[in-house]
This record gives sequence, C-alpha cells and structure tokens, in this order.
Amino acid sequence: MRRVVVAGAGFGGLEAVTRLDAMFRGDPDVEILLLSDQNYLLFTPLLPQIASSYTDPRHIVQAVREIRGRRKYRFRREKVRAVDVANRRVMLDSEAVGYDALVLASGSRTEFFNTPGAKENCWDYKSLQQAVELREHIIDLCEHADHTADAAARRSMLTFVVVGGGYTGIELATEMRDFLFGYAAKKYRGIDASEIRLIVLEATPDILRGIDPHLAAHARKRLHVSGIETRTSTRVTRVLENSVEINGNETIPAGTIVWAAGVRASELIESLPGPHDRIGRAVVNAQLQLEGHPEVFVVGDSAAAVNAQEPPRVAPVAIEQGRVAAANIGHLWRGEPLESYQYASKGMLVSLGMNYAVVQIGGIRISGYFAWLFWNAVHLYKLVGLKKQLQVAGDWMLGLIFPRDSAIVREPRKCKLCEGKKKQLSAHGD
Ligand SMILES: Cc1cc2nc3c(=O)[nH]c(=O)nc-3n(C[C@H](O)[C@H](O)[C@H](O)COP(=O)(O)OP(=O)(O)OC[C@H]3O[C@@H](n4cnc5c(N)ncnc54)[C@H](O)[C@@H]3O)c2cc1C
Repeated sequence: MRRVVVAGAGFGGLEAVTRLDAMFRGDPDVEILLLSDQNYLLFTPLLPQIASSYTDPRHIVQAVREIRGRRKYRFRREKVRAVDVANRRVMLDSEAVGYDALVLASGSRTEFFNTPGAKENCWDYKSLQQAVELREHIIDLCEHADHTADAAARRSMLTFVVVGGGYTGIELATEMRDFLFGYAAKKYRGIDASEIRLIVLEATPDILRGIDPHLAAHARKRLHVSGIETRTSTRVTRVLENSVEINGNETIPAGTIVWAAGVRASELIESLPGPHDRIGRAVVNAQLQLEGHPEVFVVGDSAAAVNAQEPPRVAPVAIEQGRVAAANIGHLWRGEPLESYQYASKGMLVSLGMNYAVVQIGGIRISGYFAWLFWNAVHLYKLVGLKKQLQVAGDWMLGLIFPRDSAIVREPRKCKLCEGKKKQLSAHGD
C-alpha cells in the first residue's frame, strides 16, 4: 500500500487531490489523504464582498465533503504541525502519518514587514473569520459615529485606511466604499458622506502592479472620482491603535486600518529544510519538487519562483501547480519523465466595486460596466458547485434591488474609539 498525503484544502491542494483521485481511482494499493485545518474551500476572490455585506459569508465557502462527492480520497480536518522529511511523515496533534508522496499546499499568511505596531493594530484580511469581524467592526463604527457629537472623534471613526494598493487592497477598498457611501451615508442620519474618508496607501509608485499601466491609471482615476484617496510612494512607518504614521512624518487618525500589503509562506513551509525565498516560500525545481526530496511537492502560495518569470500569487497558479504535482507523482511512480510547470498568465480581472471593473486578457483590455459583467460571470462560473453559484447569484441580484444588510450578528471586537465614546456618555449620565 502506498500513501499520498496532501496538506491544505485550498485551490492547489484540492486540485491535486482531485487529480490524484482520478489517476488512482481503480488502484486499491494507493491511499490518498487530504489534511487541512479548515473543512472548506474559501473562494477568496469574493472575500472583499463580505466586508461590504454584498455577499453572505457562508455562500463563498464550500465544504470539502461536498466537493469530494463520490471520490475515494479520505479527508481529516487536522493541522499539519511539521514535516519530518527524513522519515517521510507528517506530524499531527494526535499522531504521525507516513507518506510515500507529499503535496504541500498550505497557502500563505500576512507579512507585516516588521512595521512597528502593524501586527497589533491592523485588521488582517485573509480568512473568512477576519472578513466577518471587519464587517461587524465597520458597522459598529457607523453605529457610534451616528450619535457622536464630537466632530473630531466622528471623523476618526469614519476614516478607513487600506494599506496596500494591490488587487486585494483595491478590491477591498472599493467594496468598503460601496457600503459606506452607498448605504451608511444614507441610512445613518448622523453621518454625512463628506465626513467619510477612505484612503489606500501604496509603497510603490503604482497601484495594481502587474496590470497594463493604462488600465492601472484608469483604475486610479475611477477610485478618485468615486471618493477613494490613493496615495502612492507612501510607506507606512508605524501603526498605533487608531492612527497610521506614513513616511515617518505624517499621522492620519483612523478608526480602521486594514493591512493588505504583503504575504509570506505559512509556518509549516518555513520550517522545511532547504532553500527559501525572502518571504519564506520553499524553493522548488521546475517540477515543483523540494530540493533533495523528490517525493515532496510544494504548490501555490507556498512555492517560490520556479522559472525565470515569477508567477503572481493567485488561484489559477495554485490550481495549475496542483495539477502538475499530481501528474508528477504518477510519472515518478511509473518511472516516466516529469512535467515542468510553466507560468502562463490567464489574464487579470479586478473589480472596482459595483458596476465597474478592469479586465486584461491577452491583448484585450476593457474597463467599465461590461468588464464588471464579465468579472461577475467568470467568478460565478469558477465557484465550486451549483448551490454556491445560485446562492451568490441570488446575493448579487438582491443587492441590485435592496439595500445592504447592517445587522451586527456577533459582538464586535473592542474598539478604543467606541469604548471612549461610551465612557464619555456615561460621564454625562446619558
Ligand atoms: C482577500 C483575498 C482576495 C484574493 N483575490 C483573489 C482573486 O481575485 N483572484 C485570484 O486568483 N486570487 C486571489 N487571491 C489569492 C488566492 O486566494 C491565493 O493565491 C490562493 O488561494 C493560493 O492557493 P493555495 O492552494 O496555495 O493556498 P490556499 O487557497 O490559501 O489554501 C491553503 C489551505 O491550507 C490550509 N492550511 C494552512 N496551513 C495548514 C497546516 N499547517 N495544516 C493543514 N492545513 C493548512 C488552509 O487552511 C487552507 O485551507 C486572494 C487572496 C485574498 C486573501
């Protein structure tokens, strides 16, 4: 009996396990085991829409057991604590599990670049839980700003900073804009649209790096027109609880500071032997194998550049690498030559909130409403399963007809601005 272990039920891991299952379906001597600390696939391209209450959190996740269907692979919701590559086993909390081939697809985590105070005071935006928490926090601030008489305090509460002008930062900022200007400024009578400030801070001279410069310039203009300030060549040098310091000489008071400026490999990947790149990803060869361990494959956000051209950290790259890793396990066991991974861009699609997107596919570049329709169609198609497609399509259609939902369904995280407000009120016997 031979065992393949796949660690991580994200885009790369699920593609690998699905391909392996198809390859070894009729082979009773091969066991396939998927291990992941979460029992669902998170469809990250729609994560920004959680913060704006456009899409329901449960609609953008698909349980692994649903995705698996009738396939034979086994799934265990367990965190892989370490890999003992010398003895070919992965260490779980409860036991060690041996493997003959291993695919590591454990994704990435946020990198704060040692910016003082950033880790402690910024909102991280990588998981579903973080997205839900940020949504509740934004609504909580609106609730407090609505009846805060102190103009300076209200201004701080209504200043939102997104650090990072990449795809995630821009998509998140535009979703927040849709909620704040499109909903909060209308429904909260104590909030005036002119008091809301939404700022994107980007350290490099451009936003949306990697996309055609004309489209990036176009996107920047669109952000400006729709009320988002974009400050490029602006480095965050310190973050305090309710303010952000930029370029070491300017401070912006803000009730919300979201960090979307960088990622690094998961702790599991950083603990592997062999070379790593500057953000901790494992350096693998073109066949995605770990140096000195041909039976270990690393894919997706966990794998460092394998060719001259560094692939972006996006889902299509993880999916394609998951496919190549699975195919190579088959080739390895059959004594055949292995496939190399070659990055080929499938295009860039960036939503700029309601009714607007920029799209670049090959030589085609479009922006505006039709690009937005295209963005929606592609992401709906990419969602796993008809149920999720219908749920998200339903959310989108209802979002066109009805206002957003501002119900706070769980206790928001403590916020000093709001706490200060409560004390002030009780001091006045309110
Ligand atoms: C807000 C946001 C928006 C994005 N938007 C887009 C987009 O529009 N288009 C796009 O293409 N890409 C987008 N991305 C990037 C995309 O999500 C990643 O590139 C992609 O998910 C990488 O796939 P992966 O398989 O490497 O890792 P992931 O999909 O992150 O999966 C990793 C899995 O491993 C699990 N895991 C981690 N550590 C362990 C462990 N020790 N043991 C067991 N399991 C573990 C995790 O829980 C997770 O299930 C976005 C990312 C974010 C955060």
